[in-house]
Amino acid sequence: MKIIVLKFGGTSVGTTDRIKKVAKIIAKYKKKYNVIVLSSAMSGVTNNLINLSKKISKNFSDSEYDVLVSSGEQMSCALISGELINKGFNSRSWMSWQIPINTEGKYKFSRINKINKSKIVSYLKKGGIPIITGFQGINNKNRITTIGRGGTDASAIMFAKFFNAEKCIIYTDVDGVYSTDPNKLKSAQKIKVISYEEMLEMASLGAKVMQPHSIQDARLNRVDIEVKSSFTDNKGTLITKRKNIINNKIITGITNTTSDAKVSLLGVRDKPGIAASIFKPLSENSINVDMVVQNISANGNETDLTFTIKSDDLSKTKKIVLQNKKIKFRDLIFDKNVSKVSIIGVGMVTTPGVTYRMFQSLAKQKINIQVISTSEIKISVLIDKKNVKKAISSLHKEFKLNK
Ligand code: ASP
Ligand code: MG
Repeated sequence: MKIIVLKFGGTSVGTTDRIKKVAKIIAKYKKKYNVIVLSSAMSGVTNNLINLSKKISKNFSDSEYDVLVSSGEQMSCALISGELINKGFNSRSWMSWQIPINTEGKYKFSRINKINKSKIVSYLKKGGIPIITGFQGINNKNRITTIGRGGTDASAIMFAKFFNAEKCIIYTDVDGVYSTDPNKLKSAQKIKVISYEEMLEMASLGAKVMQPHSIQDARLNRVDIEVKSSFTDNKGTLITKRKNIINNKIITGITNTTSDAKVSLLGVRDKPGIAASIFKPLSENSINVDMVVQNISANGNETDLTFTIKSDDLSKTKKIVLQNKKIKFRDLIFDKNVSKVSIIGVGMVTTPGVTYRMFQSLAKQKINIQVISTSEIKISVLIDKKNVKKAISSLHKEFKLNK
């Protein structure tokens, strides 16, 4: 029998009633497949655990943090198996260390590098339904690790890879990936199929459906993913390789970010090495600089430099820039009321004029573009936060995503 991996997110297992619904879904697949289930913690549980650690200390030990915050998954897995056993199925929960799921890297941000198959394979052969804790693993010191917030997506994808599963289904609270956030724009449409590359851009640029890391894992391992809702029977979105997709749309989706800040250094000396001196201490402090623009200097010796960062990093960034003795500037200004709006689509590779159409469409709405960045399959603009809705709605229409 073929193997299928099912992942249930926090809201899908958020209450005991929902867990009963999840057990029904699992039972349905069991008729046709060997089912491997990965579960997140019940919604809210992981956040509560993190808050507890903060109450103990601001510098709570990383290794104990992983033991603590991964415990929510133990709870939901036991509840799901318990319900399946009640329904007459052969099921049990598996903690990561019982399998084991091996990880490498730092606590809080480990990555799965190996899954020991033997115990799960023989359990499946006996007709069992393993309910496995997502998000957690163990390291080579035999200690519990976690793989980053939202990590159960990546756990599921790695199981699909190691067990050569036919498919990996990610059950969540939305019934697929949409052309843009349906809470912001009513005419948003569900995307039937999307490439890994586009999904990776969408997730990194603000679409919250899946964890970006996990999509990268799926792409590298060629695992097909279906994203669907555990609350409805609607068909979801398939995430697969580009070759499998026939698409006549230029743009697949539009996203926006909600936590960017813009920093501008006015009157910086225009000479070689200045940009490097500004960004070196930021990178040493793990501050991720995203978009960058530097004006050409009108007089040949002074210029303005603007970049964006996560707004959480703003106070740290200010401090670092002001303390930096290697650079001189006239003024430092920052703005938290910005948002990055991006259009994403493999179709733009072969279609000329996309940039123009995007800018024209924003201009018609009198929306000022502050910073621009592009890659092969996306164009991002930084705009005033108050214009995001208007921007998304006009771009959605411009690129015919309404139907
Ligand atoms: N429970 C973990 C979290 O909330 C992992 C997950 O949900 O995938 O981040
Ligand atoms: Mg969660």
